[in-house]
Order: sequence, then structure tokens, then C-alpha cells
Amino acid sequence: MSSVATGFLLYAVIREGFGKFDKDVQAGRITELKESQGASIREMTLALAADMQLPPEYPIRFWKTMSTAQYPSVQQVEEGDVNIVLPVNYFLYHQQHPERSKAILAHELGHVRQRDTDLYMLSEKFYSTVRLVVVPMMCLSLFTVLLMLVLNGNNQVQDGFLPVAVSALSVIIPGAFIVFYMGQYNKIKALRQQSEHLADMNAYLYADGDRLLEVLQTLQEPGRRNNIVHPPRKERIAYIQQLYNPQIIPS
Ligand SMILES: [Zn+2]
Repeated sequence: MSSVATGFLLYAVIREGFGKFDKDVQAGRITELKESQGASIREMTLALAADMQLPPEYPIRFWKTMSTAQYPSVQQVEEGDVNIVLPVNYFLYHQQHPERSKAILAHELGHVRQRDTDLYMLSEKFYSTVRLVVVPMMCLSLFTVLLMLVLNGNNQVQDGFLPVAVSALSVIIPGAFIVFYMGQYNKIKALRQQSEHLADMNAYLYADGDRLLEVLQTLQEPGRRNNIVHPPRKERIAYIQQLYNPQIIPS
């Protein structure tokens, strides 16, 4: 039963996640970069993709967004296309700090190589969808408990087993759902954060880890309400630093 419910929910999550890029393109929030634009970024990306031995069956398409983000993002890998979305600020950042911008890009291409985009879509949409399910459930259980109290107060339901049992079930069933989905959420979050460290490792290997450290110490992404996507900056910095100075963790 619960696996059917999970499958149903995940189907909706995946559909919604995969539709977002297309919706942004249709609405004009993301536009394909013209052949004449971003020559230096294209060149850097293709050289990096070759160094990182990205599968050749994944041609890279470049897109531009007016978003205030600093980092490019890999939005979708579908039908053999890797869609890299470049925020306008990144073009200027690339001119000012070419090596830092390369480290950021190596991180993103790391996600392509790890085939993280499915996980990315899933994790980004999971929390909001869970909330869509959980909030109505909690309202329904509160309503049921109140209804039982009112009916009991009006003596329409006699004191005894039934109202207590209905009230208890109306709390226990959504409670069990919440515990189950939060467990799934935490698993996805842990996987996602692990994949971020692996992507940072690509920046360390194929670009310059020190430049990525500079990026993490200087650039601030616009605040996210739920930051499932990246681990805290401190953790990422500590992870990259220990790549330079591995320390044996005492057992
Ligand atoms: Zn990332």
C-alpha cells in the first residue's frame, strides 16, 4: 500500500520536476544562447567536457537566464542533450574571474558525469510536494478530532470507544505518513549532499580547487527557503580543504 502511494507521489514529483525547464523556456525565462554569444564560455565548457571525458552522445546546449543566480546549472539531461543554463551575472563573472568560473563549471559538469540530474529534479520537488500532501492531511486530522469533540459535547456521539478510536486513527495515519515521507526526504537529502561533494571533487581535479574555495568564500547564492540542494558552505569548504590535507580520522 505504502509503496503504491510512494510510486504515485514520486510519479507526480518527477513529472513536475522535468516539466520545469520546458515551462521556463516556453515562458521566455530561459532562452537559447545565440551562436554569436558566449564564445569564451562555450570554448571553456567544451574543453572541460573533453578533459572530463563526458560521454560524446551528450551534446551540450547553452541557455541564458535573467535570474540573479551566480552559478550556471545543468537543468535537464534528456534525449542526449545536456542543457547548461547560464545566468547573466555569470558572463561578467567569467570575464572577471576566468579560473573561478571554470571551477564552478567543472562542478556542474561533475553533476552531468555523475548523472545527478534525475536526483536533482527529484530532490528539488520532493519537499514542496510532501508539504502539499502533509498540510491537508494535518488539517483533516485536526478537523476530525474537533468534529468528534463537538459531536461528543452535543451528546450525538456517546462517550466511549468509537470517538476515541476515530480521533486516534485520524492522528496516527497522517503521523505515520509524515514519518515515512520525512525518512524518504532525509535519504534523498543525504544522497544529494553526497553528490555535491563528489561534484566539488571534479572542480578540484579538473580545474583548481583553490579557485572553488574562493568562490565558496566570496559568492553567496540567493537565499533558498529549503536548502536541500547544496550542503552548508562550511561543510563544502572543509571537504575541499581535506582533499589538500587528508587527515586520518581517529577510530
Ligand atoms: Zn551542485
